[in-house]
Amino acid sequence: MADKRDYYDVLGVDKGASDADIKKAYRKLAKKYHPDANPNNKEAEAKFKEAGEAYEVLSDSQKRAAYDRYGHSAFENGGAGAGGFGGFSGGMDMGDIFENFFGEGFGNIFGGGSSRRRNGPRRGADVQTNIQISFEEAMFGTEKEISLNVTEKCDACKGTGAKVGTVAENCRKCGGSGQESVVQQTMFGSMRTTRTCSACHGEGKIIKDPCPKCKGKGKVKVNKDIKISIPKGIDNGQSIRKSGFGEAGDKGGSNGDLYVNIYVRPHKSFVRRENNIYIDIPISFVQAALGDEIDIPTIDGYEKYTVRAGTQPGDTAVLRGKGAFNVRNSKSRGDQIVTFKVQVPTKLTERQKELLREFSGESSGGKKSKSFGEKVKDFFNE
Ligand SMILES: [Zn+2]
Ligand SMILES: [Zn+2]
Repeated sequence: MADKRDYYDVLGVDKGASDADIKKAYRKLAKKYHPDANPNNKEAEAKFKEAGEAYEVLSDSQKRAAYDRYGHSAFENGGAGAGGFGGFSGGMDMGDIFENFFGEGFGNIFGGGSSRRRNGPRRGADVQTNIQISFEEAMFGTEKEISLNVTEKCDACKGTGAKVGTVAENCRKCGGSGQESVVQQTMFGSMRTTRTCSACHGEGKIIKDPCPKCKGKGKVKVNKDIKISIPKGIDNGQSIRKSGFGEAGDKGGSNGDLYVNIYVRPHKSFVRRENNIYIDIPISFVQAALGDEIDIPTIDGYEKYTVRAGTQPGDTAVLRGKGAFNVRNSKSRGDQIVTFKVQVPTKLTERQKELLREFSGESSGGKKSKSFGEKVKDFFNE
């Protein structure tokens, strides 16, 4: 997978390409490399397939977003495979990060996948929990300890459920298969069906002397304190997976995983969108008109900024690299986007009013200002 080409490169478009550009680029390539136009050309065939694959991802907004964040690993192992993502820069101890637990896509992580086979090893259930963190904690990362009630393999019986010194016996009724076959009389005659063994309830084994600690279940409920490292740049709605921190498995099955859903409390001034941070900065109409040097708050502290003379309400400034860290690559950061809100004073002293009136006369060039009617006339005579 490592030598797979970047999908944007494949289509020859840049990362910000519009859907229409992507479609156009794909059409061009598909035409060029179409097997009908290149009979027996393996290279063309490969290019045709590659373009099709790139288009499939980049033309779908959800897949494209996943690709932008995780690269090709977004689509390996179904995106949430046991091996985790390959593209981490900060080591794996922080766990995998999943997007959008508010959305639907998440359901299939918890949905099922665990085998229905009762007899063999069974993976433990996944567990989810929520953590609320502050905006600053999300920006710079933090460590949290949570206390969780989960099941753990019983250490007394090593998960067998049988009292120490005894072993579970094979069920005689089903011979250990956990299934029994029964003959039922139906209106079509007698029918042989299999069902879960009624003696061992499908376990295949019968515990004569149950372990007193776990009462034969092989697992016990425990209260666990779990450290969660929250990487800097995490966003509201993302989840961290702690592999193996879920419920204990059965019969040697592995533990489920723990998903920690992150809720980021809103900040009073900063608003995050993707990795950019937005802030409104009020300036006086005098500062807007004459320009001024001001301090703009950023997540790193105050930043000196020179407001340009003649700044208009709603004008924006971009403070490059002052946005949120990319949760997957802490070397990359978004920008801070500042919108200037020009404040018009509501209370003026007589002297200020006088100065403004004087200013108003001045700005019409000292000449008598043209009346509104004259301006309209000028407009239509041009
Ligand atoms: Zn036990
Ligand atoms: Zn049985």
